[in-house]
Amino acid sequence: MRSITIDVAIIGGGPGGTEAAQWAARKGLSVAVISNSPPGGRAFWSSLLPSKIWLHTAHRWEQIRHAPFDGITIPRQFNASTMPERISRTSQQQSEQLWETLQQLGIQWINGTATLTAPGEISVEGENQAPLRVQARAVIIASGSLPRFTPDIRPDMERIIAPRLMTRLRTLPRTLIMIGGGVTGTEYATVFAELGVNVTVVTDQPQLLPRLDPEVSHAVEDYFRTAKGIHIRTNTPVKAVKRNGDAVTVTLANNETLTAEMAFIAIGRVVDLKFATSEILNLLAPSGTVVELHNGMATALDGVYAIGDVTGGPMMVNRARWQARMAVEQIAGQVKHPEPAALTEAVFTHPPVARIHHPVRAATGEPCERYSLNFQGNLAARLHDMPAGKLVLSVSKKDGQILEASAFGPHAPEIIGVIQLAINHGISWSELRRIPLPHPTAAEILTAAG
Ligand SMILES: Cc1cc2nc3c(=O)[nH]c(=O)nc-3n(C[C@H](O)[C@H](O)[C@H](O)COP(=O)(O)OP(=O)(O)OC[C@H]3O[C@@H](n4cnc5c(N)ncnc54)[C@H](O)[C@@H]3O)c2cc1C
Repeated sequence: MRSITIDVAIIGGGPGGTEAAQWAARKGLSVAVISNSPPGGRAFWSSLLPSKIWLHTAHRWEQIRHAPFDGITIPRQFNASTMPERISRTSQQQSEQLWETLQQLGIQWINGTATLTAPGEISVEGENQAPLRVQARAVIIASGSLPRFTPDIRPDMERIIAPRLMTRLRTLPRTLIMIGGGVTGTEYATVFAELGVNVTVVTDQPQLLPRLDPEVSHAVEDYFRTAKGIHIRTNTPVKAVKRNGDAVTVTLANNETLTAEMAFIAIGRVVDLKFATSEILNLLAPSGTVVELHNGMATALDGVYAIGDVTGGPMMVNRARWQARMAVEQIAGQVKHPEPAALTEAVFTHPPVARIHHPVRAATGEPCERYSLNFQGNLAARLHDMPAGKLVLSVSKKDGQILEASAFGPHAPEIIGVIQLAINHGISWSELRRIPLPHPTAAEILTAAG
């Protein structure tokens, strides 16, 4: 059997794995990435990137449709037939760009499926190639996550669809039922609605985007109902979805049925645990649900680290990248006990939504002052035709630190990004507010007087 020896072997070539590879190579470590998908992984080829292209396109379409151009007739129907080619071209471009960066850093890319057989020991199987053994001083698991389906709620690849199928959808339905009101369900619900589809979101949760502050979530729901015409049914569990010829029937837990031309399943994700033998997996993921972390990104096995979606949620690229950097710094001996960081959770609807919480103090129940700010009077929001959003914060009564924040409105992720800096660097709410931000920007909501 062929064999190579390396400082750091990484299982998975998604955003987490490729970030760890770059970070490690820049520290002078020899690195190999083993991946059964091209650079960028699922995020580039089937989940994140296609969704962002759809969101961008839908928003452009909405802007064109609503633009007050006298005498210009705007087509009423959006033509989706070019979307698969556009998505595939962008995935290719992003993946090639990443590949070049990895090559410049001298990172080995190994096509194939990795199995961790012991700490520091990986066997790789690939199509049309002899098995390979990789021995590594440290292993980073970055195998990511897959969509969750149940026996009665699963795609048929035609009328009952899921994020992956958005890479090849060429025709839009007239009606669609979105099953799930989390980030993916909410983002794609707005895509379809902006493109003229009659959308109903059905979620078993009491609100859209369950992790969001309820006041902000209700503002989001109101706006999506009134401005985008989306029907939203909360506290409504779905029992089954079935295809009936050219239609789908969604059966709710109370046996009520809903019909539409298509259904979209967005009921969550499960971690991909197929990267190890069952003996190793029992040690790394005793619950059978996620790889458990012990100190920073270290797992129960010496020299084995885990990052990204495989470690649980919230599943997002900035978290995977943060963990990647911490894992490499632990391997390089630069950080012994990484501190948790506050990370922004963003939803790229139009307008977008974002939230953040203090990684240690948010859930302790310490007394807080609650602030609810709105964009009325914010010139940038008016220029975006979006004065309806809001920013809600919980600020510690003890020392003025921001413990939680949720925002809905223009540039909400960037605004919460400013708060991310404040939380991570101990800047209090009153210090943050002291110096006005550039005018006119949506971020002025943070520093406006009054
Ligand atoms: C529709 C959708 C939209 C999203 N949009 C956003 C967004 O806008 N912003 C954001 O921050 N996050 C977004 N996310 C979440 C984001 O995509 C994930 O958090 C991110 O991709 C996680 O990166 P990862 O490296 O942990 O895993 P993945 O991206 O899942 O990559 C893991 C890779 O490892 C490979 N692999 C797995 N097992 C093996 C093995 N045994 N051997 C070899 N290779 C293996 C897989 O093929 C896969 O490509 C979105 C998710 C979805 C579903």
